[in-house]
Amino acid sequence: MTTARRAGEAGGGRRRAGARPEERDAADDRTLAVGGAKPTPIEEMADLREHVIALLAERGVRLHDIAEIVYHIQRDHHLGLRLEDCVESVYEVLRKREVQYALLTGITLDVLTEEGHVPPPLGPILARDASLYGIDEVLALAITNVYGSIGFTNFGYLDKQKIGILARLHNAGKDGRRVNTFLDDLVAGVAAAAASRLAHRWHNAES
Ligand code: MG
Repeated sequence: MTTARRAGEAGGGRRRAGARPEERDAADDRTLAVGGAKPTPIEEMADLREHVIALLAERGVRLHDIAEIVYHIQRDHHLGLRLEDCVESVYEVLRKREVQYALLTGITLDVLTEEGHVPPPLGPILARDASLYGIDEVLALAITNVYGSIGFTNFGYLDKQKIGILARLHNAGKDGRRVNTFLDDLVAGVAAAAASRLAHRWHNAES
């Protein structure tokens, strides 16, 4: 039995050749896989957050890397801030479904582009991270918007100051080793949102 067949049946549906597009879409929506792993029925996936964390790790990004960016931009605003506070904030941001969907969308486009599966004209545009493309930043704003205008300001700062892993992702994308067109902005978006979340919490604690 093929993996696709197993996944379709496990998801409660039977995928068959000639099925109408909407039937195929419904079947595909019930399965998720990380890097060639056996697809898992989405109903059995306890937490999409864990899937996204695994996806980030596959692309070389750990929560700790994102937390270091958060620490860098918030340490002067809160005495006693610890790196583990930043890790926890990143983890909480990743709990939001819109954040998970933004990461899934962008990283999937990066991977498909890297593997040559995105046809022209879009594929080459994504592969060279064309300067006027800008949809990567727009997608990242879907993450920062969760925490209001402070998130937007933090993201603008990180877009210019490529701190820590942001520089590594950007450089790996520019020298042709990887397609990180979406990933660098999405990671900056998560860091900006996690920093904003901490700022909101401190404000609420003080007022
Ligand atoms: Mg980008």
